[in-house]
Amino acid sequence: MPLVSGLEVINECVSRGFVAGAFNTTDLETTLGILDAVDKVGVPTFIQVAPTNVALSGYEYIYDMVARRLEKSSVPVALHLDHGKSLDAVEAALAARFTSIMIDDSEASYEDNIATSSTARQMTPAHLALEAELGSIGGKEDDVAPEYAAHTDPAQAKDFVEKVRCDMLAVSVGNQHGYVPNATIDFDLLAQVWDASPVPLVIHGGSGLPSEQLSRLHEFGVVKVNVASDLRNAMIRSFGEAYAANPNEASLIRVAKDAVAAISDVVERRIRTFNPSVN
Ligand SMILES: [Zn+2]
Repeated sequence: MPLVSGLEVINECVSRGFVAGAFNTTDLETTLGILDAVDKVGVPTFIQVAPTNVALSGYEYIYDMVARRLEKSSVPVALHLDHGKSLDAVEAALAARFTSIMIDDSEASYEDNIATSSTARQMTPAHLALEAELGSIGGKEDDVAPEYAAHTDPAQAKDFVEKVRCDMLAVSVGNQHGYVPNATIDFDLLAQVWDASPVPLVIHGGSGLPSEQLSRLHEFGVVKVNVASDLRNAMIRSFGEAYAANPNEASLIRVAKDAVAAISDVVERRIRTFNPSVN
């Protein structure tokens, strides 16, 4: 089926009680690994790329790769811009026919964050999804570590969402990007933010959180959980192990297929962790 809007993934997940995984791709092997797992489990999903990671491929290649693979899939999947830190990135992803957008001006002042995110809303057609971030998520995002992390203030959540008119809200409630040893969700804070937010929530940093926390997020209004580091790790480890086992390996295809299988395995386990009700 064709790519669907991020709104459709959100709505279907909310109505069916699912949490969508949001998995970062940069390349063919990762894309195939993600979508093989999505087909197997059948839960609506976001596949995404951040501006820092289109250096190799560009937005159009990512779109073509994902859309081509989805022709043989029947699961709703949206193509999402992860951490659009500039309006130029938003414009580029929309021009490449992405169906879901994140604007991230969370390190700016509250007022500037609202202004930039509102402009992104004006640029993003109403039938496509917009994610905005309130509070700044720490840890290492791709190659960039933010200067500071700040928890989401529940008192700001309603005002922010109403002013920006975003469809989902990325929150900072103890989650951290990458593998940060002390990453842990403050569920009291998450509950307060969910109570205040008119739209479903997004948790970044899924790779670094314990499974028992990830499997509770559906009870707290979370509709999307981002996973990137796990997939890069699976890919690099798979190629590295192949080289270590046989530095003279002649079949790149065999090694690449093993990497696809390793990524698929990680994605399947993550989707099942987010959705304990899925068999
Ligand atoms: Zn993130």
